[in-house]
Amino acid sequence: MSALFRRGSGLPSVARAHGCWITDTAGKRYLDAAAGALVVNVGHDDSRVTAAIHRQMASVSYVHASAFTADVSERYAAALAARLPMDDAAIYPVSGGSEAVETALKAARAFHLANGEPERSIVIGRELSYHGNTRGALDVSGRDSLRAPYLPWLGLSGRVPGVLEYRCPNPAHPEECGRWHAETLDQEIVRLGPSRVAAFIAEPVGGAASGAAVPPDGYWDAIRRVCDRHGVLVIADEVMTGFGRTGRWFASEHFGFRPDILTMAKGASSGYWPLGLCAMSGPVAAALGDGGFVHGLTFSHHLVGAAAGMAVLQRIDELRLVAAAESKGARLLRWLEEALAANPAVGDVRGIGLLLAIEIVADRATKRPFPRSDTIAETITRLAREQGLIVYPSTGSAGAGEGDLIMVGPPLTISDDEMGLVVDKLVSAMEMLT
Ligand code: PLP
Repeated sequence: MSALFRRGSGLPSVARAHGCWITDTAGKRYLDAAAGALVVNVGHDDSRVTAAIHRQMASVSYVHASAFTADVSERYAAALAARLPMDDAAIYPVSGGSEAVETALKAARAFHLANGEPERSIVIGRELSYHGNTRGALDVSGRDSLRAPYLPWLGLSGRVPGVLEYRCPNPAHPEECGRWHAETLDQEIVRLGPSRVAAFIAEPVGGAASGAAVPPDGYWDAIRRVCDRHGVLVIADEVMTGFGRTGRWFASEHFGFRPDILTMAKGASSGYWPLGLCAMSGPVAAALGDGGFVHGLTFSHHLVGAAAGMAVLQRIDELRLVAAAESKGARLLRWLEEALAANPAVGDVRGIGLLLAIEIVADRATKRPFPRSDTIAETITRLAREQGLIVYPSTGSAGAGEGDLIMVGPPLTISDDEMGLVVDKLVSAMEMLT
């Protein structure tokens, strides 16, 4: 028996990876159409990124952030802040997405404390959302299957319906869905007591929980107005959508949306180093001030993380990966729609940029999902892997834990030939299912 607590059984052992390809120790090659879990935006084995990491390690790897700052961290924060859809951002670097979200939740609370509103503590999240697996992040997440074992520890947050046009809860759908969601948020704030609500957290474009759900027109404008009216901060969770993934540096930009706090991870380091970031807009950072934020993590502000992040920013620029994600994503979406149109189990193919998802249904007309016990998403993922294709399964988009999703989110460096292979292999994996 392995001494490693593995996250799956029958997993191949990885030997090496390059570009969009991973090779296991048996010599089998896999096309990585998931970039890990939508992480490796610049592709595997980018020598500029590994060289930057080595250079940083050769000078200094670690100092405690309460004892030193460092040029590499300052330069990285300045370069990243200039790309954020926020004014005068201040960035708190951590080790991953869940930590970034925990930091954001605490920053929102600390902001209200500093402003003399200690009663503001509640954070409202959405159904069909995911913000991380630590307790605070899980509490604001809307993924029943991940929450279920830990429910006795959860329950401090508010909740509004998920945003998924394919299964929209607005009775008047498709009319005014953005406004309907904003009104629902307004009602939830009023129900909880406006003076008790600290923040609303959401992914600007949905991630794995909703399956790359793009919000309806007017959604973010209307949400911003409601939150501003009640003095509620808006946290944009861009852990999955950041760093070019959706065809913009950050998905908020698609909607002209400017959050108060923004969380990042995944593509930030493209997986070369564990890196997450919590950016606070100028007014939030100013309220927290020097020493006004009771928070700290041993591995925060890691120097190697900053070096990796800086090199990734440069590679995204040099390879023009933001524009590439937009144009390649539009092509891949169209190719998937065309190739899967005849498969009766494909309910919806959606997404933006290279954040794409396929929702599998038992009945196209009623959108009825397969029973979860059929483990359709996991089976397709296994069949695809047998064909040498890595995709990322997700579940729960139909509510109550039901619903099967296949996420497709390759490195932004993927070529057209490789995208063609993704489509061919996925089509044949899905045909094997039927
Ligand atoms: N937020 C979003 C939107 C995510 O997609 C994820 C991970 O998938 C997280 C937070 C948690 O990030 P991590 O797994 O790095 O803790």
